[in-house]
Amino acid sequence: MRITALETIQLESFPNIIWLEVHTDEGLVGLGETFRGAHAVAAHIHHSTAPYLLGQDPLAIDRHSAALLGGPVGFIGNGVETRAASAVDIALWDLFGKSTGLPIHQLLGGASRDRIPVYNTCSGYRYNSAAWKRTVDISDAREGPYDDQIGFVTAADELALSLLDEGYTAMKIWPFDVHAEVTGGLHISVEQIREGLIPFEKIRNAVGDRMEVMAEFHGMWRLPAARQIAAALRDVRPYWLEDPIRMTSVSELAEYAAATDIKVCASETMATRTAFRDLLESRAASVVMLDLGWCGGLSEARKIASAADTYQRPIAPHDCTGPIVLAASIQLGLNAPNTLYQEVVRAYLAGWYRELVEELPKVSGGYISPVAGPGHGMTLQADLKKRPDAIVRRTDLTVL
Ligand SMILES: [Mg+2]
Repeated sequence: MRITALETIQLESFPNIIWLEVHTDEGLVGLGETFRGAHAVAAHIHHSTAPYLLGQDPLAIDRHSAALLGGPVGFIGNGVETRAASAVDIALWDLFGKSTGLPIHQLLGGASRDRIPVYNTCSGYRYNSAAWKRTVDISDAREGPYDDQIGFVTAADELALSLLDEGYTAMKIWPFDVHAEVTGGLHISVEQIREGLIPFEKIRNAVGDRMEVMAEFHGMWRLPAARQIAAALRDVRPYWLEDPIRMTSVSELAEYAAATDIKVCASETMATRTAFRDLLESRAASVVMLDLGWCGGLSEARKIASAADTYQRPIAPHDCTGPIVLAASIQLGLNAPNTLYQEVVRAYLAGWYRELVEELPKVSGGYISPVAGPGHGMTLQADLKKRPDAIVRRTDLTVL
């Protein structure tokens, strides 16, 4: 089998996401995905990746992974080249699955479990949908029952009850972000801390200890203020503290982790196993968060998961960035012995993810199950490329 074309697909109405189809001379097509900087990722794929990859055997996955991550084509880092390499790698694993008729988790060594516990990230339908703005205005009208970011700010108790009703027993919220934006994470007042604690207290009052509550900080705080917040959160027993400081150095994160007995979760911002090696060696995180569309793809993610397991750390794959990465993460999570949670966003599963793919993984009773079928099991909607806002670029072997 030989790779005959690379085709990227973008939609103007979803400016962050990009899909990659890897076409072959046997007619099989592998599907990958990444998120953020979509135009730059497309440029890298067509100008730099295509001349390397076209004509090659798609099943030499490890060889291509090495070449695209720090080899002659890419760079070691977490930028555009690594996001492009991640999309390629997910597509190649999908092709491996399709060429063998097996789901990826079987190719990785089989299932350690049949379904994966999930937590709901309490964002709304349009969180992360613009090119750069990530916060929502809570005075906006709710677009539906799952506008969960407005929910955790205004009525976290009702939100927790609604999640419990649907079988979720874990949820993630970020009520401190709004204050970090004001001072660049340098300072938090006593009043702001008290305000940020309210949703956690409301949840505990409404559902007691039946709900795990993850606290997300999106890397927005500097160390001293972050430590103040961690100390204040102790009484409401958050499940983990995620990306609590600017994620630029594991030594500061290790300093933070040493000062709290709450689990630290990090980090979707990291890419390649060398960064995660430093994280693990510094004992800065109890839970390893990773994004398959950003860290180098499935090939790199499975090595990171294995390293985490060696250090007795569970993994919790990231979601918030697209349905194909979610599906690939489920395949890893089914196989890895140390999978703790899969992140999901119920507003996305009921919202924009549905516009993009034929079928989505199902969440039931607090667990997620894969879409059955070979590879990662996902298919883009048949008419996606024909949408008026679609940007489709293709580089064929014959063109080179
Ligand atoms: Mg996060």
